[in-house]
Amino acid sequence: MTAATLRDPADLSGADLVVVGAGFFGLTVAEQVASLGKTVVVLDRRPHLGGNAYSESDPETGIEVHRYGAHLFHTSNERVWRYVNRFTDFTGYQHRVFSVSAGRVYPLPINLGTLCEYFGRQLTPEQARELIREQAAEIETGAADNLEDRAISLIGRPLYEAFIRGYTQKQWQTDPRDLPAEVITRLPVRYTFDNRYFSDRYEGLPVDGYTAWLQRMADHPRIEIRLCTDWFDVRSTVRPGTPVVYTGPVDRFFDHAAGRLGWRTLDFRSEVLPVGDFQGTSVMNYADVDVPYTRIHEFRHFHPERDYPADRTVIVREYSRPAGEGDEPYYPVNTPRDRAVLQRYRELAAREPDVLFGGRLGTYQYLDMHMAIASALTLFDNEVRPRLS
Ligand code: FAD
Ligand code: UDP
Repeated sequence: MTAATLRDPADLSGADLVVVGAGFFGLTVAEQVASLGKTVVVLDRRPHLGGNAYSESDPETGIEVHRYGAHLFHTSNERVWRYVNRFTDFTGYQHRVFSVSAGRVYPLPINLGTLCEYFGRQLTPEQARELIREQAAEIETGAADNLEDRAISLIGRPLYEAFIRGYTQKQWQTDPRDLPAEVITRLPVRYTFDNRYFSDRYEGLPVDGYTAWLQRMADHPRIEIRLCTDWFDVRSTVRPGTPVVYTGPVDRFFDHAAGRLGWRTLDFRSEVLPVGDFQGTSVMNYADVDVPYTRIHEFRHFHPERDYPADRTVIVREYSRPAGEGDEPYYPVNTPRDRAVLQRYRELAAREPDVLFGGRLGTYQYLDMHMAIASALTLFDNEVRPRLS
């Protein structure tokens, strides 16, 4: 059966495989399945494909805005880099972030430039290491099993308080002592003046935007995308035994039978301002708790190579809060209670032989785009292809 014959939007009976969620994970699986000559239907309850990586042009200025928060592509995975280059070229954009703490601006991640500026003197790499060693001696890294202790064991209390404590409290609204230590290890500390945010071999932004990239992944006669379609409304029409790749929230799949997993959501407040440049860079973090937002994105700076208007700019303030009923789940909070609940869902998932859970929401895991793509390719190789051949 070809995709063109699958006409009734509520009918999934002709699909060889159903993918729930048109984000990077779901589209990667769909693209691989279609390349095998099989028919795949991808459902998404949103009115567009791309999941959280979706972007569109601001109607007033033409500036590309990432609707669900700024997305920076970076990877050191050779397979992923080869794969993504089949669908898009990348610009040479390199991400750099600054942080405002007590009214002063510092480069992030914490590097020699941040340390010299913060301590108000020139430091050699060795002097800086020694200084941080002294400040961090309070807690041994091996004994630090939560975010606060791990951060103090890595950078010492003064820097933790200047750059991490307030920001983390605003971002997670959870006591940093209840957060997993791994969250902070995503941020490196460097004893050079290198202030690139990511350390990966490859980095860049899609030349003609995320949506063009995602559309090219979906552009195959064997892939049918059905937008504005919720899995839970159409699941009964799937032919029994058809494999389903589910990338929605795992707790919702089981009707929250083992309780709700904790998610954080974000509110984005967007403004068009009558200036050519608001902050001189793409992302400015705000470390102090008395500023209610965590960061401001100025989207024109992601594409300096483009011909954007010289007299207008788009800025987006980002606010973070716990996700309630009906909010978009963005980040797994991952407290010890969440991990126990997740274990119950893993047990329930193991009893669903036709459903494969994947992606950021389906596995309740922080996944960058390159990780979502890598994990989708692995799921395809190990679980999907054997079922379809
Ligand atoms: P998603 O993109 O979330 O896609 C899941 C899709 O499933 C959604 O479209 C949803 O509508 C759909 N869905 C859910 N339930 C149902 C249902 N019942 N029926 C139908 N459809 C359903 N990664 C980076 O590499 N760099 C970054 O800078 C970066 N920044 C990020 C910033 C933010 C604010 C967020 C939230 C994420 C960021 N990411 C970044 C991560 C990136 O968004 C993910 O890696 C990527 O989106 C993962 O894709 P996914 O397919 O797993 O999930
Ligand atoms: N973080 C911080 N101050 C900053 C930037 C990050 O304390 O200025 C902490 C915060 O807890 C965050 C974590 O470091 O969740 C990881 O940072 P990253 O930029 O990867 O955050 P993301 O927005 O992707 O969660």
